Amino acid sequence: MAVKDVQHRSVIVVGAGPAGSAAAQRLAEEGIDVLVLERRTVVGNPAQCGECIPNWGEVVGTFCHIGDNQWLKSYFDFPQRLRLHRLDNMRVFLPSGKSYEFELDAFAGHRLQFDGYLADKAVRAGAEILTNTSLKRLQRQRKANREILVTSEGRFTCDVLIDASGSLAHVARLRHGQDRSVRPEDQVPTIYAQVKGDVPETFDVFLGSVAPSGYAWIIPKGPGFANVGLGVRAGKLKGSLKDHLEQFCKDLNLEILSIGGGWIPMGGPVKRMVDGNTLAVGDAAGLVMPSNGGGISQAIISGCFAAEAIIDHFQTGAPLVAYEKRLRACLGPALKNSLRTKNMGYAFLRGDLITEAVLRILGPIGGIKRAMECEKPLWLL
Ligand SMILES: Cc1cc2nc3c(=O)[nH]c(=O)nc-3n(C[C@H](O)[C@H](O)[C@H](O)COP(=O)(O)OP(=O)(O)OC[C@H]3O[C@@H](n4cnc5c(N)ncnc54)[C@H](O)[C@@H]3O)c2cc1C
Repeated sequence: MAVKDVQHRSVIVVGAGPAGSAAAQRLAEEGIDVLVLERRTVVGNPAQCGECIPNWGEVVGTFCHIGDNQWLKSYFDFPQRLRLHRLDNMRVFLPSGKSYEFELDAFAGHRLQFDGYLADKAVRAGAEILTNTSLKRLQRQRKANREILVTSEGRFTCDVLIDASGSLAHVARLRHGQDRSVRPEDQVPTIYAQVKGDVPETFDVFLGSVAPSGYAWIIPKGPGFANVGLGVRAGKLKGSLKDHLEQFCKDLNLEILSIGGGWIPMGGPVKRMVDGNTLAVGDAAGLVMPSNGGGISQAIISGCFAAEAIIDHFQTGAPLVAYEKRLRACLGPALKNSLRTKNMGYAFLRGDLITEAVLRILGPIGGIKRAMECEKPLWLL
C-alpha cells in the first residue's frame, strides 16, 4: 500500500487480545470483512496476566443472565493442550495465615498460547490480522466526513470500529483525551513473576499488608511452577512493587524465573461503551471484575456481543447501542456487586488487625466466598 493510500474495511478491530479475537471470529463467520490491527509482533507476547482462565461453568456461575448462548459455550470449550493445571479450588488467606477455601472452575494456561489459539481461530474463520501494526492517530477529515486510522503500517477507514486495545483504551484516549466517561478508571498497577519451587495445588489469594487495598496471588501452572503476583491500589504501597514481590517470593522460598506487569482497570464499566460507530470491548470498556481482577470471560463475552450487534446493524439497521444494553443486562449485576466489594475492601480492610477482624466475621458466614464470586458481599448490601 502506498503511503497516501487509504484502505477501507467494513470492521476494524484494534487489539488481538481475547476480546478482539472473539469479535473478529464472530464477524468473520458471518462473512463480514474484518481486519484486526495488533501492535505486538507475536499475539499474546509478552503475557500480562495471572493466567487463570475460566471454564464455561465458571462463566455461567458468575453471569447467571448469560442464558443459553451456544456460540459462547463452544468458544469456551478450550482444547486440552492449553490446560496446564486444573484450578478446582481457591483459598483466601487472612494476615494470620488462616484460610477459607471454595470451589473454582478454571485452569492455568500460558496467555501466549491461549491468545495465539484464539487469534488463529479468528483467522481460520476469515479475519485478517496485521501484527506489528500500532494505531497511532485518528485523523478527522471534515470535508470527506470520515475518520482515518493512522497506523504504523498505513492508513485505514472503516464502517465500524471496535476498541479492543486493553486497559489503556487507545481509541477512546486518541479521540477524547482524559474524558472519564469513555476511559476505564482506577488503574491498579500489578506485577507478577513466573516462579519455580514448592507451589500449592490451589489458586491462593493473600490479603492484608502483603498487598494493601489489593491482593497477592499464587496460581499453580504445573508441578513445581506457578505465577505469583501482586496488585495494589496506586499509591498504597511504600517502596517498589517489584521489591515487595521479590520479598514475597523469597518468604515462600520460590525462585523467580521472569517478571512482568500491567495495569488492571478496577473502576468498573465505562459510562459509555458505544461512541458513534465505535464499540469498546473487554478491558477497554472497563469490564474487569474490580474485586478479583479477572477479565478474560468478560473480554470474550463482550467481543461476541459487540460482533452480534454489528451483524444486526448491517443486516437490519439496528442501532449499535443495542450492544451496550445487552452487555449491561448480562454482566452488569455481577460487575456491580464486584465493584461494591472492592469499594468496601478499600474502606474497611486497613491494616492487618482490622483486615483479620473483618474477614473473621465474613469468612464463616460465606461473605468471602460471595465476594470472590461477585455476589453481593453481604446479603443486605
Ligand atoms: C498482571 C495481570 C494479571 C491478570 N490476571 C488475570 C487472570 O488470572 N485471569 C483473568 O481472567 N484476567 C486476568 N487479568 C485481566 C486480563 O488480562 C484482561 O482482562 C484481558 O486480557 C482483557 O482482554 P482484552 O482483549 O480486552 O485486552 P488485552 O488482552 O489487553 O489485549 C489488548 C490488545 O491490544 C493491543 N493494543 C493495544 N494498543 C494498541 C494499539 N494502539 N494498536 C494496536 N494494538 C494495540 C495489545 O498489544 C493487546 O494485544 C490480569 C491482568 C493483569 C494486568
